[in-house]
Amino acid sequence: MKSIFGIDLGTTNSCISLLRDGKPEVIQVDGSPIVPSVVSFDGDSIIVGQRARNRALLYPEQTVASIKRHMGETVSMDIAGRSLSPEQISASILSYLKEQVENQLDETVTDVVITVPAYFSDAQRRATRMAGELAGLNVERIINEPSAAALFYNHLQLDEPAGNGEQLALVYDLGGGTFDVSVLRIGEITEVLASTGNTRLGGDDFDQKILEFCIDHINTKHHLDPRPHRPAMARLLAAAEQAKIGLSSAPFVQIEEALLPVGADKTIDISLELSRERFVDMIQDYLEATRDEVRKALSEASLKTRDIHQVLLVGGCTRIPAVIQLMDEMFGTSRKPPVDPDLCVAKGAAIQGGIITGQSCEHVFIDVTAHSLGTAALTGEFERRLEVVPIIPRNTQVPVRRSELFYTVAPEQDAVKVEVYQGESPEPEECELIGKIGLRLVPAPVKCPILIEYAYDLDGIIHVRVEQKGYSKMKEANLDSQRRGQQFGDLLDDETIDLDLGDSDEDGELADTEASPQLLNYILQKARNALDEMQKSGNSAADELRMLIETYEQALGDGDDDAVEEAEERLLDYLDELKAD
Ligand code: AMP
Repeated sequence: MKSIFGIDLGTTNSCISLLRDGKPEVIQVDGSPIVPSVVSFDGDSIIVGQRARNRALLYPEQTVASIKRHMGETVSMDIAGRSLSPEQISASILSYLKEQVENQLDETVTDVVITVPAYFSDAQRRATRMAGELAGLNVERIINEPSAAALFYNHLQLDEPAGNGEQLALVYDLGGGTFDVSVLRIGEITEVLASTGNTRLGGDDFDQKILEFCIDHINTKHHLDPRPHRPAMARLLAAAEQAKIGLSSAPFVQIEEALLPVGADKTIDISLELSRERFVDMIQDYLEATRDEVRKALSEASLKTRDIHQVLLVGGCTRIPAVIQLMDEMFGTSRKPPVDPDLCVAKGAAIQGGIITGQSCEHVFIDVTAHSLGTAALTGEFERRLEVVPIIPRNTQVPVRRSELFYTVAPEQDAVKVEVYQGESPEPEECELIGKIGLRLVPAPVKCPILIEYAYDLDGIIHVRVEQKGYSKMKEANLDSQRRGQQFGDLLDDETIDLDLGDSDEDGELADTEASPQLLNYILQKARNALDEMQKSGNSAADELRMLIETYEQALGDGDDDAVEEAEERLLDYLDELKAD
């Protein structure tokens, strides 16, 4: 039986896959499932993929990226002394995928399904088909990218099946260079009801914002402009992209580049921190633009957000937490099935290939966290509440590593206790307590940042790491859930299972943190801010507030729960009154 391969020929990246034993499998090229859609010409040789991408900033005149934007145009591109059509350049990418897969699989790649954006015109589709033919491929079918994603979604093995009736899905596809949004009706056949987007918006723009941030830093710190220095800019751009990716799983990243060449015989070392908050500020306008496009697509399909059954997040940039949050704001949190944003279009194309050859396709199983994993922390500005704050949300594909920043509550606080909870409720009593980990701290001023990282692997192990940022205090522990993809909680007989604290940087004993304040409390911070303001404005009641703060701090320091409660109540009452005035 012939094999029909599925190809996602993307603006930024491409991907090739095949339905094998009823399962869509992405084939790795150069050790990665994702191949940059970049072609570079070095003398007679044509370089494609990551190596071409590495050359892009050093040899821009020899390199072509994002050729997909020109598909269907009757232009010719002059590159390194050659004159090439967009079809020919795309054909180089397809030839490379064909060649690499043939080398690995001992199988010829001839028949393919290629995906294109839903908005592609006839001319653009014809050009894509032509590119396939130039690469020696037989293009069995051209299908829409959102439809491929939907096909993949249809084959997902979900806890809550998609149902047999018609489904309305919105595909939000935010890639490296383009943003597409499509509204689909998924039934016997998949119909695109509306499709819109912005062909000039994507992760590259976000990288540029971070690059500007680095340039500003270099301007201020080193009093020079790195822009004329191409190799330095190439490295900074790569570092900017890595920072963006890092911020999808951590609340801040360190951008570090040593020996950046910024002139004849001159190099500089840079090291700067970027927080997720700052990054979100930088890209806020772009995110709002995607919100507008989603509204436009819905209005073109004469639908409201509540009509949409499923929101499919496609494209590497949908891993950015602020993007997920935006979708949650618009559609709620429960309508996002776990489709793999990078690979689901290619996998959908492989399923389509399999359907054409009459193969049966099994339901695809994706390992996801069945429940959110979080930690208990004090939240709330004026009213102190102990809540479970999620670190790894439910339905996140595993393996996954995520971290969040919390803060100490008391000055000179000498320990923190991290409670690992599983569940969807913010109420700790309604979640399952998996375990606790304590870390002794170097006593520091209040609001000292504590980084908590959870990693959850395919074997169901939750690796917890707690770190006092800025000090060399760290503790790690493994929680063995033992049953993959199952609830961790049902392994617990009692709610305070101790963890394996094997890798401790200290003496290994669990800190006696029961009496210590929890992480994250803004009460003191708020109270101090209020005190500052009162003092600045010469308010005579400042003394009273200072006294209340001191009493509260004293109680926290003593670890006397009753005294803490009483002092806290008085402080909160005072702050409430202040707010009401
Ligand atoms: P695509 O065009 O779908 O292949 O997406 C590529 C874009 O996704 C590039 O801009 C990548 O830098 C970006 N990307 C990939 N992984 C992540 C991630 N984990 N967080 C944020 N952006 C990512």
